[in-house]
Amino acid sequence: MTDTAVPPRKRLFIRTWGCQMNVYDSGRMADVLAPLGYGPAETPEEADMVILNTCHIREKAAEKVFSDLGRLRVMKEAKAEAGQKMVLAVAGCVAQAEGKEITARAPWVDIVLGPQTYHRLPEMVARASRAAGAQIDTDFPVEQKFDHLPEPAASQGPVAFLTIQEGCDKFCSFCVVPYTRGAEFSRPVAAILAEAKALVAGGAREIALLGQNVNAWHGEAPDGSTWNLTRLLYALAELADLPRIRYTTSHPRDMDEGLIRAHGAIPQLMPFLHLPVQSGSDRVLAAMNRGHKADLFLRICDELREARPDMALSSDFIVGHPGETAEDHAATMKLVERVGFALAYSFKYSQRPGTPAAGQPFQVAEDVKDARLQELQALLRQQQDGFNEDCVGRECEVLFTNPGRHPGQVMGRTPWLQPLHAEAPLSLIGTTARVRVTVRHPNSLRATLLDQKELALA
Ligand code: SF4
Repeated sequence: MTDTAVPPRKRLFIRTWGCQMNVYDSGRMADVLAPLGYGPAETPEEADMVILNTCHIREKAAEKVFSDLGRLRVMKEAKAEAGQKMVLAVAGCVAQAEGKEITARAPWVDIVLGPQTYHRLPEMVARASRAAGAQIDTDFPVEQKFDHLPEPAASQGPVAFLTIQEGCDKFCSFCVVPYTRGAEFSRPVAAILAEAKALVAGGAREIALLGQNVNAWHGEAPDGSTWNLTRLLYALAELADLPRIRYTTSHPRDMDEGLIRAHGAIPQLMPFLHLPVQSGSDRVLAAMNRGHKADLFLRICDELREARPDMALSSDFIVGHPGETAEDHAATMKLVERVGFALAYSFKYSQRPGTPAAGQPFQVAEDVKDARLQELQALLRQQQDGFNEDCVGRECEVLFTNPGRHPGQVMGRTPWLQPLHAEAPLSLIGTTARVRVTVRHPNSLRATLLDQKELALA
């Protein structure tokens, strides 16, 4: 853990967009700046340094960053007039992809840094404080950032994230990750296990392993051998006081048999998997360069349910990829009907500059994309509601994570990632307990505690 015995002298505000990887990175940037005297600020107004940790996946991501930068410019100027300084940094995938444009369009930005260079942040802050002109670092340095970042500073609470893998070599036609996060990199076994133990010691009872291609992870073990994700999961399952393990995001191509079997063999592995398929049409999957067919995805789903009968599945869909026909869309609908998803994220295809699909002919008209997305989302919503409804009356184990909105209520999550609240003492936070689900709300569940003597205090 980072020693922050010196009380914070400066305030840091980080705004985070996008995936859990970015949330994790924001935490690490805060860790790396703590020794420089930076503590958390509640708002950008009260901050001496603001970092926008950006995501490039969705349409207009860059525009949102620029409009935020416009507001921050006003704040920065007001502070300057009052004789105060505000360091402004843009990090993450928009910084990586559009670093030069950021400094050209927003010269009041002090630091632009890509996801692989966070460990250089203190040096860049020091230079930005001295020099005029933006500091840009969007390299993919040979030395890996993980070697240079400090141990995570604070406990993440009962649910913790642990990045084990970064980058991607798969080059899906619509995705910027291989360009912004670089080639696949797997952290070594010893570093991951050490971090996991520290997280558990800090109170984590659920660890979610993160990676853009988490099931492609292959880390070097201390004896020089290479472990795959399955082996790592078995090792994590040996840790005392860690009743829950998850991993995300996976690619169907890397779901091998051992990993599927692990879902039946490791009780700590939660019965919920996010496995993006994107489309149910082989023609579109080929155009997307996904490297698998719909059949493989269906087979994996069946085998996962065979290994773990209470397995719930979640996925990502892109509607309206260039060249997608009505038949292709129908194939996606058919796949969704066949699998039945507990949760899903679906989006209209949007042209990401620099990706192969952006330049392809036969872009699908917006109104067609809208109609297809509506149809797909209606079915996915129906499946999600049905899944949650089926949970009513069921008993399950819940990890309590934080106080609820109302006095006497505690929030938690089920094994299937559903948010849940129950009348329960706050002392249950950070522990697992058995509940019976009583009510389904639109986006959460209500439950009653079962015999309190059964509480599995950690
Ligand atoms: S597998 Fe495809 S969608 Fe996922 S990060 Fe890699 S390129 Fe992007």
